[in-house]
Amino acid sequence: MKPIVISSFYAFAPIGSEGADRLVQDIRVRCEEHHVLGLFIVAGEGCNATFSGSESGVSALEEMFRDRLSREILFKRSSNDTAPFRKLVIRVRDEIVTSGCPEIPIASGAQALSPAEWHAKLEQGGVTVLDTRNDYEVEIGKFEGATDLAIENFSQFAKAAKGQHFNSSEPILMYCTGGVRCEKALPILEGLGFNNVFQLEGGILNYLEQFPDGYYEGECFVFDDRVAVDRYLQPTTRWALCPLCGNPANEPVPCGVCGQAAKVCADCRAGGTQFCSLGCRGAARRQESGG
Ligand SMILES: [Zn+2]
Ligand SMILES: [Zn+2]
Repeated sequence: MKPIVISSFYAFAPIGSEGADRLVQDIRVRCEEHHVLGLFIVAGEGCNATFSGSESGVSALEEMFRDRLSREILFKRSSNDTAPFRKLVIRVRDEIVTSGCPEIPIASGAQALSPAEWHAKLEQGGVTVLDTRNDYEVEIGKFEGATDLAIENFSQFAKAAKGQHFNSSEPILMYCTGGVRCEKALPILEGLGFNNVFQLEGGILNYLEQFPDGYYEGECFVFDDRVAVDRYLQPTTRWALCPLCGNPANEPVPCGVCGQAAKVCADCRAGGTQFCSLGCRGAARRQESGG
């Protein structure tokens, strides 16, 4: 077992803005006490977070969230040799995942499929598989045959879904990384008149825990220093974040300034000279403009 435990979860719980403020305080105190780092998004509707630390520290945080938000929270865990976060970031937002439609109700859970049910439906076929994630996430891995809306962030989802003509004789099976985006995507799709829609409970990370050799292809983008995890939930060895634009990058190139090997994304690679960092790009620009 690797020493650093990583846990991610989301929970919708109507705590209101005062509850959100109190939760922020409690997260900060507990994280400092247990040396836990991570990214926490807190809103009046609940919390969405990934954090890491020792097994006992992570367990203490999980217990606090069970107490404060819901006994039913599904924590998805993995482990790593090093901490995937360098600091503690707690953000207060209007929504725990930004859909741009804060007024929509949250999915009831009635349309959620367990990984085993999801796997069986894919095996059967005759379904439309919809990836609700962003284009750069879809690019490095997705469910076999999945379609996506070519969005850059989830707040574009509602608008992009509007013009879609999915095969109306097939159920739509929808998924994201950990499940939270689908909680909002489902009511959005239902509001557009699609009424045979299912969501993957706990998302890709939950599916891979049970079916590493199933229908998921490639790797799964995650929003921390690991960049992505493979089908066995191990940190990627292929992908890095492009130092120039932040998108996933996998081909090493020598930096045109310092010569150091760097991974930049295909778009930035097509843009001409390669740089390992914004610093080297800046240095090249200063040289070009004569100092
Ligand atoms: Zn790039
Ligand atoms: Zn360089």
